[in-house]
Amino acid sequence: MSLMKIVRKTFQGLWGLLSGMVLTLGYFLRFDKVITQQYPENRATLKLPPRFRGKLELIKDPDNGLYKCSACGLCVRACPNNSIGIEKVRDPATNKQKLVKYEFHFERCTVCGLCVDACRFDALRMGQDFETGVYDRAELTEILNKDHGQPPAPPLRESQSAVSTQPEHAPAIRATPAQPTVVPAKE
Ligand code: SF4
Ligand code: SF4
Repeated sequence: MSLMKIVRKTFQGLWGLLSGMVLTLGYFLRFDKVITQQYPENRATLKLPPRFRGKLELIKDPDNGLYKCSACGLCVRACPNNSIGIEKVRDPATNKQKLVKYEFHFERCTVCGLCVDACRFDALRMGQDFETGVYDRAELTEILNKDHGQPPAPPLRESQSAVSTQPEHAPAIRATPAQPTVVPAKE
């Protein structure tokens, strides 16, 4: 290596070091903008970046308080880890699919966000909950619409069937409660 090249490399290194130190010093002297989060003391006011991905959440329509989910199953098919299972029925009044149960397996989820991207109804989002540690793995399975968020489904008649949707390509995972059960039709 020539002498000129050594001098140039040394200068570039020093310049990079100096630039980093100036940036650090700039943050250090900006007392008005505290960047370090004082967690857990600030748990009540803690704000995560908007793009943070926590647990999956179903979104309600603010106009009527009902879940926006149309039970189309696109998120189930988009999930590569078989982390979502939904149960749905056909509403005889509207002849449309209706969500009965939305089961989310956080223990399998890699928070990739593919399900959110697949949803065409803006009914799903990655939440901000990050305190997700539990002692029992089974507690990571949740029913996301357990507060219903919509009027109870009408009783099923013999001619109506309930459908459980799971991705066909996903491998079976045996360590957790497997597929959501099919809602049985009444006799
Ligand atoms: S893709 Fe959206 S609307 Fe369809 S089942 Fe999933 S959450 Fe519901
Ligand atoms: S974030 Fe990814 S892994 Fe988790 S449920 Fe959605 S698609 Fe599946």
